[in-house]
Amino acid sequence: MKPCTSCQAAIDEYVLDKQLEPLRELTADDFNVCADCATIVADACVVCGGAVYVPRGGGVTPDYCPACRADLIDRTGRDPGWYGGPVSS
Ligand SMILES: [Zn+2]
Ligand SMILES: [Zn+2]
Repeated sequence: MKPCTSCQAAIDEYVLDKQLEPLRELTADDFNVCADCATIVADACVVCGGAVYVPRGGGVTPDYCPACRADLIDRTGRDPGWYGGPVSS
């Protein structure tokens, strides 16, 4: 069992997978944090309206879910980061 990189607790992949369910294409294997340290916000993606993953220590809800961020990287060849919108040019 892998330890959480944030709180060092053992990661319960069953619990984490349940929590990550709203996120497309992501499973516990993609994360190194436990369910307590992973924050999921439903309906927050500005592109698809899906759930987003709040990076540890971020504290601000991202604009893109991981799947849409990956889509944007594929399309533009650039990483938009977690926060989009008109501010960054
Ligand atoms: Zn943790
Ligand atoms: Zn999305």
